[in-house]
Amino acid sequence: MLDLKIPLISLGVFIGIGLIVWWFRHIMYFYLFTGIGFLDFGTRVLVHYYPKIRQFLRLCLQLLLGSFLLFWLGLVIGVNFQFPEIFFDAYEGVVTGALIQLVVARLILPFFLGNAFCSRACWTGFFFEMTNTKKQDKSKNVPRSKIIAWTYLISLVCISLFVAFLWNPAADIETRKWWIIGENLFIISVGFILTFFVGSRAYCRILCPFITISGLISPLSLFKITPINTDNCTNCKKCDDNCPMLIDVNTYVINKKRINDNTCILCERCISSCKHNVLKLSAKTKNN
Ligand code: SF4
Ligand code: SF4
Ligand code: SF4
Repeated sequence: MLDLKIPLISLGVFIGIGLIVWWFRHIMYFYLFTGIGFLDFGTRVLVHYYPKIRQFLRLCLQLLLGSFLLFWLGLVIGVNFQFPEIFFDAYEGVVTGALIQLVVARLILPFFLGNAFCSRACWTGFFFEMTNTKKQDKSKNVPRSKIIAWTYLISLVCISLFVAFLWNPAADIETRKWWIIGENLFIISVGFILTFFVGSRAYCRILCPFITISGLISPLSLFKITPINTDNCTNCKKCDDNCPMLIDVNTYVINKKRINDNTCILCERCISSCKHNVLKLSAKTKNN
């Protein structure tokens, strides 16, 4: 039977966020977040009826949202969602996309759906999806280090403030657009190079400041990947092989624990890869 709990809660969260941001900023954001909410609702309902196209639907959603955020909001309107923009905008005394992403996707949404923004809306993440393979090469894996992640984040804050002080790329609309192109090309190139040397989604796993912040809250997420039919598990480890964040999913299954890793992006590739229906995205119950 179709369980609408997750789609409806997710829709409610997005509409609520849209109302709040509208109050503080502009009605455009209400339409934006409500639209995202309905798209998310629609794909989750479709996945119920057509589970085999779960990943196809997720990638379509990510392509749609990521393109809208990058091409329309970014290159047409000049709204930048990358982390340094928070400080460029703060220096100019304005609030735009990056700060809204920080508050909405990194401080509110993680209480409900962890780092799901990363697997459904981040355009940078969409490019990194191309590096996902069916079987991850774990021999190159460099595990996430809190020290590296926080050093990178703090360095980025200092560099951004310094750049804003010297020559703020957010000061005029034309410069903003050129900055968005250059900054994204730089991040995507660094991400591809890192992935080549230190394993799947290396930029996301090791450096990205957004997941460093949302990862503080995501372990508290209401919805997580949850082992349900653990007796069906054959230890084939396909869930491990398919996880782009190199999480040891199988160990969570063996221990009958929900995936509590703060880098889980709720892409649900582990669910799609398990032929024995062991995993499900669900809320906490007294049994897990
Ligand atoms: S970790 Fe960062 S770059 Fe990767 S998908 Fe999430 S926000 Fe995007
Ligand atoms: S893919 Fe499914 S059956 Fe295989 S190890 Fe993972 S949970 Fe178990
Ligand atoms: S544990 Fe599952 S949902 Fe989380 S990142 Fe890995 S494959 Fe995606």
